[in-house]
Amino acid sequence: MSDPGPKSYRGSDITVTFDAGRCRHAAECVRGLPEVFDVSARPWITPDNAGADAVAEVVARCPSGALQYIRATPPA
Ligand code: SF4
Repeated sequence: MSDPGPKSYRGSDITVTFDAGRCRHAAECVRGLPEVFDVSARPWITPDNAGADAVAEVVARCPSGALQYIRATPPA
């Protein structure tokens, strides 16, 4: 099966990208912030359900690198 590449989940202050092909299902994300990472919801990542700093911290804990984040550019 071909890897479709990362998907983006845009929030107002932070965008989370998820590469399903790299996910090891370690569940650090769903344990860390269940209100943002909810595998029973569609979309399963809702960055605006927590503060951008908390989202960034949990994304950084992803052991596989499947999750990445991009901060929205702060207003000048
Ligand atoms: S923390 Fe990373 S590897 Fe673990 S389930 Fe979430 S996305 Fe997958």
